[in-house]
Amino acid sequence: MRTFLKPDSPHARATLLKYMEQVLFGLQDFLQAHLGVTGSAGLATLADRYRRTRINPLPEKTLGEVIAEIVETVAPHAVNVSSPYFVGHMTAALPFFMVHLKTLVAALNQNVVKLETSKVVSILEKQVLAQLHRLIFARSAAFYRRHVQNPATALGSFTEDGTLANLTALWVARNRLLTPGPGAPDPERDGLHAVLSHRGLERLVVLVSALGHHSLGKAAGVLGIGHANILPLPVDRRGAVVAGALERTLADLVRDRRCGILAVVGIAGTTETGSVDPLGCMADLCRRHKVHFHVDAAWGGPTVMSPRYGHLLEGIAHADSVTVDGHKQLFMPMSCGMALFRDPRNLDRVAYHARYINRPGSADLGIRSLSGSREASSLILRGALQIMGQRGYALLIDHGIVTARRFAAAIRQDPDFELTSPPQLNILTYRFRPARLRGGRGAARRERERRLDALNTALQRRQREAGRSFVSRTTLPEGMGPAAGRVVLRCVLMNPLTEIAVLQAILAEQRAIGYALLAAANF
Ligand SMILES: *Cc1c(COP(=O)(O)O)cnc(C)c1O
Repeated sequence: MRTFLKPDSPHARATLLKYMEQVLFGLQDFLQAHLGVTGSAGLATLADRYRRTRINPLPEKTLGEVIAEIVETVAPHAVNVSSPYFVGHMTAALPFFMVHLKTLVAALNQNVVKLETSKVVSILEKQVLAQLHRLIFARSAAFYRRHVQNPATALGSFTEDGTLANLTALWVARNRLLTPGPGAPDPERDGLHAVLSHRGLERLVVLVSALGHHSLGKAAGVLGIGHANILPLPVDRRGAVVAGALERTLADLVRDRRCGILAVVGIAGTTETGSVDPLGCMADLCRRHKVHFHVDAAWGGPTVMSPRYGHLLEGIAHADSVTVDGHKQLFMPMSCGMALFRDPRNLDRVAYHARYINRPGSADLGIRSLSGSREASSLILRGALQIMGQRGYALLIDHGIVTARRFAAAIRQDPDFELTSPPQLNILTYRFRPARLRGGRGAARRERERRLDALNTALQRRQREAGRSFVSRTTLPEGMGPAAGRVVLRCVLMNPLTEIAVLQAILAEQRAIGYALLAAANF
């Protein structure tokens, strides 16, 4: 019982404060002392430490000991994603205040599935969703006055992550496409099979660029569409959808009476290359063919806050739905996604009621959300927006884009490296390709490319294992220039502490590893 009582003595208070201090500073100091990205122990060694499967019958440790164990034995072998040298993924350093906001959310422990366990926090969540909606869709002031606190409508829904936000958007799109007429089967009530046979449809498809995120495949699986029906659209040199190809594909599909087009997905910041699709063009085509247009802006969405680069997402306001991730470029702690809908009635298509909560007519947020119980991420986002302002976020966004461009220029000038996708936003790809592995044609060229793939794969692995810095690796799809289909290194520039000097050091390390590999083996 004592663990549930508020600390009553000055001594108990002091102890709890000390523990918070351990979390805030102990962890930071520790990570700073171990400046690299992660400890050197291998996964097999680490697995050996965590094999006990019985829960101890009696208390084993105090809170202080538990914290100390995490700080001293777990953290060094976790990944220091806040290191400026960790530039391989979309997870990076947090502004320090996020830890406080996250702690507050845990301390309040609101459950925003219903008003009875959240009250004002559910109301505040509607406000935050309206703020993000306005940022993206920029509808009229009157529109927001009407909907910001309207219990009958919803401008969006918080989700656990971008994957579930994409699923939510496609779920809505599926039910929009298959809205039943009177007496006809309903996909939500009767299942997909009943609706498809009733309408003489054989399949539903989703169109997205070859760089589409794999969460769309999961969504297609869950929604009963099948991920084989996610049809990849060709991309150009920059990784953006070729609008003409979309136009032709849509025209063909519209003529096929047995095929339903569930949605076209445009990407605002592809995961692998940060490419942005021609959103305005895609929106026009979708409007012409009455197809749901979803924009996956999980990564790039916050770019609209930048007066300097917001125009790169031109056309996003014409989407029917938009995914934005909080834990990416809104710099929130894991994890927070949002699905926003231009039409505030769209989420009605996935509304569910229950007898004991979420009754018809109530303002419970759980009525229109995929999740049931859910933490109040909106409190964190609202606080962050208050602390940073749009300008503060714009500074972060601009820094990433400017740094990516500078890094791209440095790679272009470097005889040992080749820029394989120039950054549209703040992600770029390149590869190690020293002079001796250039030129050639035909079979010789194919053999040389194969060796370059092996070399870059080994290089990326060795750099990761050395633990000082981390850059990720991928392969580019057809259409993306001469390096299409080849192994490339991928760099994501979101950490404001990652300056160009850091990137130059990473490049120098890669050069050293690359030449060492060349000297040691026959790449
Ligand atoms: C990260 C990402 C997602 C998925 O987001 P999670 O939060 O990892 O589930 C979807 N689409 C794009 C373009 C992304 O970059």
